[in-house]
Amino acid sequence: MKVLLIGANGHVGKHIVRLLQESDKHSLKAMVREEKQAEVLSQSGVESVIANLEGSVDEIAGAIAGSDAVIFSAGSGGSTGADKTLLVDLDGAVKAMEAATKVGATRFIMVSALQAHNRNSWADSQIKPYMIAKHYADRMLEASGLNYTILRPGGLLNDPSVGKISLASNLAKGTISREDVARTVVASLDEENTFTRSFDLISGDTPIVDALKNV
Ligand code: NAP
Repeated sequence: MKVLLIGANGHVGKHIVRLLQESDKHSLKAMVREEKQAEVLSQSGVESVIANLEGSVDEIAGAIAGSDAVIFSAGSGGSTGADKTLLVDLDGAVKAMEAATKVGATRFIMVSALQAHNRNSWADSQIKPYMIAKHYADRMLEASGLNYTILRPGGLLNDPSVGKISLASNLAKGTISREDVARTVVASLDEENTFTRSFDLISGDTPIVDALKNV
């Protein structure tokens, strides 16, 4: 599968880049927003394209063109305000879906956030605007007609991969290493059991491939 990765310079994104470089099943085009990021990727032999989620649908479609699948692992981050959360985590994500549809990239994997589907769990949360953005981006993806998988990881850690996860339609709380999120994303790409499905994702006891096949 030809994969366009949005958020390729991020913490999870960098793990996904490495895993897709090692893959003999998939090829990668990495979307970044700065020339110097593209240069670093090029030095490692990674094809890249410069585009910004705050740009137009056509700009993003130009980046996706030629790909079969989109992985969305971008995010505005905790140091920006609710305005960027709206612009990137919600509108940027929805523009990426529109762009994917426009150029016929039918597979779409979204890195969302644990419990984004469940308003009750973040009713009083300090990150409620972020959770609202994730919630509605996910709902738009579910209604998009794209062949989606939504992975909603718990708190992200920079710990090394343990290669074992817990995956279910509803998991109240938990954490997971960014590398294991990346491994789960990449293993989901062609795992039919995950097509048009959404899951919470935390560290667990089941090897990633088995968890995806049996969920
Ligand atoms: P990260 O390191 O902050 O990476 C986010 C990436 O998004 C960065 O590379 C950033 O680009 C890119 N980005 C931001 N705005 C953009 C724009 N306008 N256009 C294009 N790209 C843009 O995040 P992470 O730790 O890898 O997390 C990955 C995902 O997991 C995010 O969707 C996050 O919301 C989600 N998540 C996080 C947690 C948590 O505990 N932190 C929990 C659950 C889910 P630059 O490199 O140029 O800044």
